[in-house]
Amino acid sequence: MNWQKATLIKKRQSAEDVWVLTVKPEKWEPFDPGQFYQLQLPGIFLDRCYSILSTPADEGILEFGIQCIPGGVLSPQLCEMEVGGSIEIIGPQGAYFNWKPEMRGPLVLIGGGSGMVPLISIYNHVKSLDPGLPITFIMSAKSPEKIMDYNSWKDRLITRFTSSEPRIDQDFLQNKIDLAQKDAMYFICGSGRFTYDIKNYLENLGVEKIQIQSEQFF
Ligand SMILES: Cc1cc2nc3c(=O)[nH]c(=O)nc-3n(C[C@H](O)[C@H](O)[C@H](O)COP(=O)(O)OP(=O)(O)OC[C@H]3O[C@@H](n4cnc5c(N)ncnc54)[C@H](O)[C@@H]3O)c2cc1C
Repeated sequence: MNWQKATLIKKRQSAEDVWVLTVKPEKWEPFDPGQFYQLQLPGIFLDRCYSILSTPADEGILEFGIQCIPGGVLSPQLCEMEVGGSIEIIGPQGAYFNWKPEMRGPLVLIGGGSGMVPLISIYNHVKSLDPGLPITFIMSAKSPEKIMDYNSWKDRLITRFTSSEPRIDQDFLQNKIDLAQKDAMYFICGSGRFTYDIKNYLENLGVEKIQIQSEQFF
């Protein structure tokens, strides 16, 4: 796996502080939804990890959903890039947090903020293969404006908006998830604290460790 050049071919704002960058890499590689790339700007050897937003069916391009972190070194520069600009990428990476075809059971996706990115990729990919598969998609964010493409997702999401509602807790998960689905796989993605707490709540509710995959954005 080597660093390679990718060209920004499209850019759009998808939430108050999240931009979707569509890039065309020199060499597109197949990937499992949930995986990520490291990104850096040419000549600046300072990289960060970003999950893939697009699906394996989007051959030839890669989409990333970048939350602009005020005071951050790389994310504001990526969000300010102009179409036609270049970045350097290396991937796909991530052996653990990804959906694999042998996972046939229902899915429970639980995200916080930009943790929605890999969950969207998993959701879209799995639904394209098996439209009838039950997927519970729970999102926590400060407000609807912070959720990526909220208007198109809102009917498929269970949400908790922390500016006006309590944080997701064990009771909330117990009420919203069909815990009787013993073959379900759980994907959790968000900040370190978020993933830690949600994992604990699920385990307290009887979900087996082996059913849970989590990724921390730090
Ligand atoms: C596997 C993985 C996948 C990821 N996927 C995504 C994704 O899909 N989308 C996404 O938006 N993010 C994702 N992230 C997070 C991403 O990698 C970056 O961490 C994030 O974009 C912040 O990078 P930055 O360079 O902008 O901020 P940084 O410069 O790393 O700073 C982060 C924060 O720390 C503060 N800070 C930094 N240095 C100091 C200091 N010395 N003193 C005090 N405060 C400081 C900054 O002000 C800022 O608030 C992912 C992370 C991982 C590990």
